[in-house]
Amino acid sequence: MTVQLDTIPLPDWLPVSFLPLIIAGPCSAETEDQVLSTAHALVKIPQVKVFRAGIWKPRTRPSSFEGVGTIGLKWLQRVKKETGLLTTVEVANPQHVAEALDHNVDILWIGARTVVNPFSIQEISEVLKGVDIPVMIKNPLNPDIKTWIGALERLNYVGIKKIIAIHRGFSFFNRTPYRNSPMWEIPIELKRLFPTIPVIVDPSHICGDKDLIPATSQKALDLEMNGLMIETHIQPEEALTDKEQQLTPDQLKELISNLVIRKEYGTIEFENALEELRSEIDKLDEELIDILARRMTVVEEIGKYKKENNITILQLKRWSHIIRDRVLGGENLGLSRDFILKLLEAIHEESIQRQTEVMNRKS
Ligand code: PEP
Ligand code: MN
Repeated sequence: MTVQLDTIPLPDWLPVSFLPLIIAGPCSAETEDQVLSTAHALVKIPQVKVFRAGIWKPRTRPSSFEGVGTIGLKWLQRVKKETGLLTTVEVANPQHVAEALDHNVDILWIGARTVVNPFSIQEISEVLKGVDIPVMIKNPLNPDIKTWIGALERLNYVGIKKIIAIHRGFSFFNRTPYRNSPMWEIPIELKRLFPTIPVIVDPSHICGDKDLIPATSQKALDLEMNGLMIETHIQPEEALTDKEQQLTPDQLKELISNLVIRKEYGTIEFENALEELRSEIDKLDEELIDILARRMTVVEEIGKYKKENNITILQLKRWSHIIRDRVLGGENLGLSRDFILKLLEAIHEESIQRQTEVMNRKS
């Protein structure tokens, strides 16, 4: 069961002429000069509204650069004064929150390593009770939507109403081209459950490689995500953290100008034609489900028959034949081998499950 959150819609607290919202800035604040020169270059890109920089960096190993600390907040104050950009910083504990508030940071963000821990989120929430500040909440490291929702709820329950979710990808045991697997189904599900919470995508941490960032940014927009947070450094090759995934301000400018902003709705004719195609899909899906249900009935019958004759459930020769035959048939109809295999595996798993239930039945 989901509880609707009591939030203020993004356009009511951050009116921007350009959507998606673009947040940019270095992974880490390193020197005053690096922060200021990056911000001055970014403010020339009209779509950039918010400047990000990490000053307390959660690193995997303690020997790495762990951020400049509180001094960085003074640099962010200069950014705001000199460029007019809003500023945002990562906070991981109540002390960080207090210091960020003292230095008039505009938006707080909570990182993936903090969101995994409900104790930390609760502590941060307690000190934000009664404070009117926007908070962006990254997904937890692991693909667990409930922990992400839990963090949104904890913040909302103490009165934070200006909430953004940030999708930064998930740790995943399978090797993929991404540093953190995008698993788009998770942010899409979050949007379905909480349609009023904007979701901003962080392609830098998803990709871990600057060459993959443009396509992932476009994909985010095509999936109706509400904005992008992209790490940008005046000299990425010299960056002390995440150097492979930071763009220069010029590269960011080019990326933004190449983004195709598609409309969510079309003309009446378009909507009608779409509606027709969708009802065709609905019908086909209905048939598909009906066929699957009928297949399972036959599977159960086979199960009963095998039980009566004391025959094993899994018969490898038969299974290998099915795979060969169906892959060939599917490929002839233009379906990919990968897709048919995945589908067959899911069907096979369910069939075995059904037959096991039949075998275990007392009667
Ligand atoms: C960051 O934005 O620099 C960061 C540390 O991100 P994440 O929490 O997503 O790893
Ligand atoms: Mn980073």
